[in-house]
Amino acid sequence: MGIRLVLGDITEQRVDVVVNAANSSLLGGGGVDGAIHRRGGPEILAECRALRASRYGGGLPTGQAVATTAGRLPARWVVHTVGPVYSAAEDRADLLASCYRESLRLAEELGARSVAFPAVSTGVYRWPAEDAARVAVRTVRGVTTTVCDIRFILFSEAVYAAFDRALADPPSGE
Ligand code: ADP
Repeated sequence: MGIRLVLGDITEQRVDVVVNAANSSLLGGGGVDGAIHRRGGPEILAECRALRASRYGGGLPTGQAVATTAGRLPARWVVHTVGPVYSAAEDRADLLASCYRESLRLAEELGARSVAFPAVSTGVYRWPAEDAARVAVRTVRGVTTTVCDIRFILFSEAVYAAFDRALADPPSGE
């Protein structure tokens, strides 16, 4: 399994799975969610609405993941996951880790070989990039998966640099 960092826009990635940092409503938002729906077209939202009407009437819980078509994106599926809102008072790192783990588990179930992740929770949900990057890299490194190409697509130099530092750290236990 290889992990790569890309500075850029996740909607341009040619991969099997694009992961979306969605919100629990699944009905669209700003940031990466807005970009995915804009670029991917109405088919994605239609499937999200259907999921709301069937399995997720109360919304998709934080830390979980669900798949839809990728619409017009150059990908096969979008996996929507809901990151935790950052809290200085409460440790929610397990929930953030769960987003990466559950997304990869679902990607594997779909038969995906390549997955592109955004930096979940580092935008509107305010998670400090340095810490979010450590959680993301540690979690992905700790998963055994048939997905062989894992990319983090970072939208700003600052978040890219944080992931670069996290990746340079040796895996814990070494
Ligand atoms: P959250 O609500 O989980 O914080 P956001 O979409 O607000 O989600 O932000 C998550 C990260 O995605 C931020 O680092 C933001 O800069 C980044 N981002 C925004 N648009 C894109 C895009 N088109 N491709 C990749 N990353 C993006």
